[in-house]
Amino acid sequence: MTRAVLVTEPNAPVELVDLVLDDPAPDQVRVRLAAAGVCHSDLSARAGTMAWPRPMVLGHEGAGVVTAVGSEVTRVAVGDHVILAWNQPCRACFWCGKGEPWLCGNATSDVLDHPYGTVAGERVSPFLGAGAFAEETLLLDRAVVPIAEDVPLETAALIGCAVTTGVGAVQKAAAVAEGDTVAVIGCGGVGLSVVQGARIAGASRIVAVDLKRDKLELAERFGATDLVDAGGTDPVKAIKAATGGHGADHVFEVLGRSQTIRQAFSATRRGGTTVVVGVGSAQDKVEFSAMELFWMARTLVGCVYGNADPDVDFARMLELVGDGRLELDELVTDRVGLDDVGAALDAMAEGRGIRTVVTF
Ligand SMILES: [Zn+2]
Ligand SMILES: [Zn+2]
Repeated sequence: MTRAVLVTEPNAPVELVDLVLDDPAPDQVRVRLAAAGVCHSDLSARAGTMAWPRPMVLGHEGAGVVTAVGSEVTRVAVGDHVILAWNQPCRACFWCGKGEPWLCGNATSDVLDHPYGTVAGERVSPFLGAGAFAEETLLLDRAVVPIAEDVPLETAALIGCAVTTGVGAVQKAAAVAEGDTVAVIGCGGVGLSVVQGARIAGASRIVAVDLKRDKLELAERFGATDLVDAGGTDPVKAIKAATGGHGADHVFEVLGRSQTIRQAFSATRRGGTTVVVGVGSAQDKVEFSAMELFWMARTLVGCVYGNADPDVDFARMLELVGDGRLELDELVTDRVGLDDVGAALDAMAEGRGIRTVVTF
């Protein structure tokens, strides 16, 4: 029996429940969570804009210690420290074969076909194959990436989603080069990781856009050269003004909303790249004219999980942290227990704080 945060109905409050985990299948592992970040996608899952079978145990950005392994597991052993990966590449499908494991076509179905657990006798699912808002979880073995024991597990948890998504968007989706100009719309945990990634890449200009003063201040701390309070300033005009009137080489949209995607596209220079990092709704439509798509010659790309391969990129992120180039401590603005996940999600919905981490 393990305590877990459950979502039963869209937009209903989360519940703290007793989860009974199944025994691991041959290719599964059990992990005792040590830290789990509260990410915007958890909010989207609670609201129902991000589809996943309910009832579900929320949480997907976590790290912990392996407590049991299935009979065929070789990648980890009991006692290993691990980061949870919320996309678990199968290494066998069309996309994995193309070298794009972040688009794996089997990850979700494999998660849902495997044992997990029950609450009051009813089967429940682990959100994104992680279910990190629980004292213990049961996952595919390929959903865990072993790390050294001296890595703080709170740092490790953040690498499981926000950091890899943001830095990966800069390095892999946009391939920002030294001297390029960058703008970031939305400076939460992922957006601030985009700012840090852009600084590490040597961007000459990093324009940070948000409505909240504390987020803009932290963006500046992490390397933003220009701060735009979108409450009082038109972000498109401000990004253009900061980039010689052209627009930025790379504009990252980290909110997943039609309005800000439209702003990001308009603020991208002719021939530049707009990267959609935010997870939006299937009903929220963005408009582009046929002429501008041709004439502005911009590239519009979606970026899933920072185009990352967890087996390769988690270690790269940890190296950047080890070198002191990636600063994660200041991202964490609150630490709560499992009982306070609902309140943490409400705070996130209102834009309060940067990253709340659940500690166990
Ligand atoms: Zn996330
Ligand atoms: Zn695959």
